[in-house]
Amino acid sequence: LLGEDGSAAPTVFAEMSALAARTGAINLGQGFPDEDGPAEVLEAARQAIAAGANQYPPGRGIPDLRAAIAEHQERFYGLRLDPETEVLVTAGATEALAAVILALVDSPDDEIVVFEPYYDEYAACVALAGARLVTVPLRWPDFQPDPAELRRAVTDRTRLILVNDPHNPTGAVFARDVLDLVVELAERHDAIIVTDEVYEHLVFDGPHTPLATLPGAAARTLSISSGGKTFSTTGWKIGWVTGPADLVEAVLTVKQYLTYVGGAPFQPAIAAGLRLPDGFFTGIAATMRAKSRILGEGLRAAGFAVSRPAGSYFTVADAAPLGVEDAASFCRTLPARAGVVAIPLTAFATPERQDEYRTLVRFAACKRVDVLEEAAARLSRAQ
Ligand code: PMP
Ligand code: GLN
Repeated sequence: LLGEDGSAAPTVFAEMSALAARTGAINLGQGFPDEDGPAEVLEAARQAIAAGANQYPPGRGIPDLRAAIAEHQERFYGLRLDPETEVLVTAGATEALAAVILALVDSPDDEIVVFEPYYDEYAACVALAGARLVTVPLRWPDFQPDPAELRRAVTDRTRLILVNDPHNPTGAVFARDVLDLVVELAERHDAIIVTDEVYEHLVFDGPHTPLATLPGAAARTLSISSGGKTFSTTGWKIGWVTGPADLVEAVLTVKQYLTYVGGAPFQPAIAAGLRLPDGFFTGIAATMRAKSRILGEGLRAAGFAVSRPAGSYFTVADAAPLGVEDAASFCRTLPARAGVVAIPLTAFATPERQDEYRTLVRFAACKRVDVLEEAAARLSRAQ
């Protein structure tokens, strides 16, 4: 986690957003939207502040938000949860992931299986917990795991299998047989499944299938999500974890010493968001799908080979057809050459697998259509 001089190394997102700000380039690096989400949700936060929701909320989250999360899980997925014991509100999915990993890892021999490339926090938290990271590669262009490699990765040493679906950074949505295999292996080796479903409502050909809905999964699965992506409120940091009461209790034990509580006025606002009509949720999926297609077309026109994401904010493009050998140096000079910021896929990979992803670049599509079109035009001109 340290830079070469011993100082704290910034995350790739902080580094790339600073580069965008410095150069005035279009930021297709860090995934955050450039438009506000639903007016009702923003208004609910204003009203909560005016009504005095400005002190510490309860440790598990306000009852109304826990109820709204339980209602949401039942409405969309048929999962029935007790909001008193099986739902915990956290400071974003980020804290949920950290608290889950710190709570459930017991020894330095514990292994945590993740798919690679992975959201950067996973490897960092596994390191903070003093456990071992075991990765299963996802390969261009469809980024589905090889079942044999997944089988080899999960053993009796596996404590957690961490599944991010839809997947950042690849935009993949895992095939049903992959999810089935995760459950089978978790049962065989008595591992706990942890899901990161922050892009659950950004599946292009939905509906999303939470791993916890698979036969046998709920009793050993902690599901994590967040309001940030669904309601375009990434700065609010309201997340949650749901699952069996004993596991949620263990996570609470750690969570209370990380942030204690957070986001008092944003909690009722996210509760209001979770209760929006179905049309809102299908609408954001359709909009994201359209933006993702526009970005993909633009990248193709600029000479990249482009993967076909099935969900999330992200599209992976291969810069090899442009003669690029190293996407990291390509991305470092892209702001100056083309006025666009993007992130090399190697930023999401272990040192051992850098070569697999050498020429691949992650672009974020969660921007206005005119911004995406301008970025594509700039990339075309720069070739
Ligand atoms: N997991 C994934 C896969 C993400 O992309 C993000 C978004 N940055 C997070 C977790 C963190 O979510 P939050 O902003 O709610 O902490
Ligand atoms: N989820 C966003 C991304 O992957 C932002 C993450 C962050 O800034 N920590 O780009």
